[in-house]
Amino acid sequence: MGTVQTIQMARRTGFCYGVREAIDKAKESAAAGKLTHTLGQNVHNEGVVRDLAALGVRTVESLDHVDHGAAVVIRAHGVRPDVMERANARGLEVIDGTCTWVIQEQRELVKLVEEGYTIVLLGTPKHPEVVGLLGFAPDAIVVDEEEEWATAIPRKKRMALISQSTQPPWKFEKLAAFMTSRAHELKIVNTVCPVTIRRQEDTLEAAREVDLMVVVGGRSSANTKELTRLCGIAGTPAIQIESVRDLTDAAVFDGRTVVGVTGGTSTPIEDLHAVAQRILELAGTPEAAANARALADAALAAAATPAGRTTSLPNVIAPTAGAA
Ligand code: SF4
Repeated sequence: MGTVQTIQMARRTGFCYGVREAIDKAKESAAAGKLTHTLGQNVHNEGVVRDLAALGVRTVESLDHVDHGAAVVIRAHGVRPDVMERANARGLEVIDGTCTWVIQEQRELVKLVEEGYTIVLLGTPKHPEVVGLLGFAPDAIVVDEEEEWATAIPRKKRMALISQSTQPPWKFEKLAAFMTSRAHELKIVNTVCPVTIRRQEDTLEAAREVDLMVVVGGRSSANTKELTRLCGIAGTPAIQIESVRDLTDAAVFDGRTVVGVTGGTSTPIEDLHAVAQRILELAGTPEAAANARALADAALAAAATPAGRTTSLPNVIAPTAGAA
C-alpha cells in the first residue's frame, strides 16, 4: 500500500518566459496560415513538439530545409549572427524568438569584444545558447566544470567574465572569485537569468518541506541538474526524471508522505501536473490514489505558476487543410 498523501509543487516553475514566448510565436505564425518552421526544437519535450506538429509547425535542423518565403522561428536560445543573416539572405520570414535576456547577453558580448577583453564564458559547451553566443565572441573561452578552470583560463591583463543564462549563480560567483587572481583588471557581467535564480530558490524552499523531491527535465539540462543538486543541499532525497513515463517504480516513494515536484525551464507545467497525478496513483495512500487527479489539480493551483502557462495564447487552432 502506498504512503504518499500529498504533492507540493515548487512555487514558480513550468516554462520560463523566454521558452513560452518562442513557442507562442511559432503557434501564432502557424495560426496565421504561414508555413512555419522552428530551427531546432524549441524545447526537447515530446509533448510540445507533438503539439506544434499538430498545428503544422515543422522542426528543421538546417535552414536548407526551409523553402523560400516560409517562416522560420528562432528559438529562445538564439543563434549566431551569421545564421540570422543567412536566413534573411535566403528570403525567409525570420520570426525572432530569441529571449530578451539572451539578446542582452549577446549585446554585452559584442561590447566586451569591442573593448578588447579576453572573455571567459561560463556555460555548457555545445549548448545551443552557448553556440549562438560564440557567434558574437568567437574567441571567448568556454568553461564549465571547476576542474577545467585552472588549465583553461589564462593569466591576462584585462579579462571579462560572462555567463550562459541558466548557469547556477554559486558557480558564477565562484568563478568570478577564481578569476580575480588571473587578471589585473576583471570585468564581471552577471547574465545569470533571474528566472533561473527564482526557480532555484523556490525548489530549495519546497525541498525543505517535503520527504522526497521529483525533478522533471532533460537529462542533460544544466538547470535541471542544478535543481536536483540543490535538493541534496537541502538534505532532501531527489530523483530526476524526464517525463511521467519514467515513474514506474513505486518503491522509491516507500514511507514518504509529502512529495515535492519541480521542473527545469523547458518543462511545461502540464508535465508537472501529470507527474503529480502519477505519483499519487502509483504510490499514494488508497484515499490519495483514488483522488489523484483532484490532488494534482490542488498542487498545481497552489503553485504561483497557473495552469495553462505553457502558452499565453488563447487556444490556437490548427489551420484548416489547404491553408497556405
Ligand atoms: S532561462 Fe531566462 S534567459 Fe534563458 S530562455 Fe528562459 S527566460 Fe530567457
